[in-house]
Amino acid sequence: MSLDFTLSDEHKLVQTSVGQMLDKFESRKAEFRQMAKDGKGFPEELWQEYAQAGLTGALIPEEYGGNNMGLLALMLGFETVCTRGFSPGLLLTICMDTCCIVKNGNDEQKERFLPKIADGSIKFCFAITEPNAGTNALQIETHARRDGDNYIINGQKTFISGADVADYMLLVVRTTTAKELKERGQPKAYGMSLFIVDTKSKGMEKTPISIPLSDELNQFQLFFDDMEVPAENLLGTENEGAVAMFNSLNPERILAAAICTGMAQSALTKAVDYAKERKVFKDTPIGAYQSIAHPLAEVKIDLDAARLMTQRAAWAYDTGVDPQTVGSYANMAKFLAAELAIKAVDHAIETHGGLGFAEETGLINQWSGARLFRTAPVSREMILNYVSEWNLGLPKSY
Ligand SMILES: Cc1cc2nc3c(=O)[nH]c(=O)nc-3n(C[C@H](O)[C@H](O)[C@H](O)COP(=O)(O)OP(=O)(O)OC[C@H]3O[C@@H](n4cnc5c(N)ncnc54)[C@H](O)[C@@H]3O)c2cc1C
Repeated sequence: MSLDFTLSDEHKLVQTSVGQMLDKFESRKAEFRQMAKDGKGFPEELWQEYAQAGLTGALIPEEYGGNNMGLLALMLGFETVCTRGFSPGLLLTICMDTCCIVKNGNDEQKERFLPKIADGSIKFCFAITEPNAGTNALQIETHARRDGDNYIINGQKTFISGADVADYMLLVVRTTTAKELKERGQPKAYGMSLFIVDTKSKGMEKTPISIPLSDELNQFQLFFDDMEVPAENLLGTENEGAVAMFNSLNPERILAAAICTGMAQSALTKAVDYAKERKVFKDTPIGAYQSIAHPLAEVKIDLDAARLMTQRAAWAYDTGVDPQTVGSYANMAKFLAAELAIKAVDHAIETHGGLGFAEETGLINQWSGARLFRTAPVSREMILNYVSEWNLGLPKSY
């Protein structure tokens, strides 16, 4: 297959316009980061600018109020946001949820939700993880039972980002339990269903989880006690949600990779600037020492590689390459970019010496933000499992 993709003028325009939009918020970065931690909510002003710049509508067809500029353009926007040291906040989950609604929603659902996502007036979070089902998502137990015009949902979710600021949640549940599957001899992937749930629904309780990250979002444990959800909010076909959900994971991984390349660029720029100025012995800047310069040069090489891999994955998704190939590209890009982000921030800390730990450089916070991406939304180990199985044809171990 040809890999003939290049960035068009339109793609470059996204980078420029997102960069210009962020200029006016440069002095307020720290304030935005602190808002969620202080319980003061969400930087709504910044969110509206993300929407104005077309980021919330990038994957939405024009007939539903989006600009349909595609995943490659969107990932460049994400990368720019993170290169500039801002957080994309809920953009990652909302874009993944958007893909799922575009691919699996009926006309009424698309008309109800997509224009409001595109114009920034509603936000979505995503809830699949449970205390006993993280990596093994098919093991979830939260259950929905049909009752007239509603479904009644019971169970719990954990680590749900932004459940306090999102208006809706894409919730993954079981409509057929593991016990029923066993009795009927059905496959494990059967029996999952997706619902669009109002986050203010009666019967939902939210408990914050303390996770000190350099992100504007808080995480929550959610408890559902006979929560009623209208049947019209079932997304796709009952019991067949697994395929619908897995189809949205590739764009999520590609966007996560773009966040990581942006974070790596941000850390590299800080490190190089400091290495050119800081003098410790005589008049020699520390950047002249190979022990400082070479690790930064390695980051630069890895960054170009990760960027190209991420762009290839986004381009393949946009051009309709088969999902299996996109999956390989997306997983490999996410792996490389997440490892790179950790390495880049670590070398930036090393370059700054003691200052690397001071709040004013922001690097220690950035390190925990980068480290998260080795684990979520898909872990390093599960990507290696994927590549072993699908790209190398090795037997599955689990
Ligand atoms: C800050 C943060 C935000 C999050 N936001 C959300 C959100 O918005 N919505 C949501 O639904 N979830 C969210 N999550 C959850 C996240 O996706 C899970 O933590 C992640 O999927 C891992 O699941 P787990 O924590 O249960 O780990 P486990 O599944 O218990 O895994 C533990 C370790 O074992 C490894 N492992 C497991 N199985 C295998 C195997 N077969 N082979 C090799 N290694 C294996 C894993 O890679 C991992 O390193 C968030 C998590 C964090 C920390």
